[in-house]
Amino acid sequence: MVEVRSVHKSFGSLEVLRGVDLDVRAGEVTVVLGPSGSGKSTLLRTINHLEKVDSGWITVDGTLVGYRRSGDKLYELREREVLKQRTQIGFVFQNFNLFPHLTVLDNVIEAPVAALKRPRRDAVAAAEKLLARVGLSDKADAYPKQLSGGQQQRVAIARALALEPKLLLFDEPTSALDPELVGEVLDVIKDLAASGTTMIVVTHEIGFAREVADTVVFMDDGAIVEQGPPAEVLDAPRHERTRAFLSKVL
Ligand code: ATP
Ligand code: MG
Repeated sequence: MVEVRSVHKSFGSLEVLRGVDLDVRAGEVTVVLGPSGSGKSTLLRTINHLEKVDSGWITVDGTLVGYRRSGDKLYELREREVLKQRTQIGFVFQNFNLFPHLTVLDNVIEAPVAALKRPRRDAVAAAEKLLARVGLSDKADAYPKQLSGGQQQRVAIARALALEPKLLLFDEPTSALDPELVGEVLDVIKDLAASGTTMIVVTHEIGFAREVADTVVFMDDGAIVEQGPPAEVLDAPRHERTRAFLSKVL
């Protein structure tokens, strides 16, 4: 479902991704771990072309992200085409990023109505189902500031799902939450995993990784140091850097 090949990315003289290769199969959950500054967010952002790669390439469901190939050359897609591609890839941020002036329901229907031109009535019916799925049927008419952080993040997940994406990306979805609210958001992500949603989740929640991940990826200094099933990477890491990191977060 996702292929990342030899991706390099620098900001000025700082090389943030130093040749990243990653494969995610359909229906699988990949958890990305690594110290601050190792390039985890940048990697996620390249996957939906919020950041351009300097070299290498990425496909999602067989489609090149951000570029089209002609012969052996790559041409950058126009903004409109990039936005269309992005509707296939849901992104959930650390800080929820809800529209503060819209109700919960309007947050969830905004993209289907504006980007996909869905009739409002259909979008509302779909949004009501999604809000039920994340346990927020009673909050449809509330505004984001009237909700707890955990509730806001569950709205953000419903909003991402409203576009029926092929892939969901999560960048530390629980790290802005009070500890007692982490579980309710992880439970929603676990439920998505159980129903076969393809996801890449950057998180420091090792228990979640052990329980839900098909593959755990450990990044350090812009590269994937090791990857494999949780039982290998978390319980029998082969690299010293992975061991050092895990000893700090466990
Ligand atoms: P964290 O765990 O703190 O979120 P991360 O692994 O997600 O870290 P990134 O956000 O990908 O790390 O950042 C990797 C490096 O790239 C950092 O040194 C960061 O300062 C730098 N960086 C990220 N985005 C930019 C940008 N837009 N311009 C310049 N430097 C950037
Ligand atoms: Mg980050």
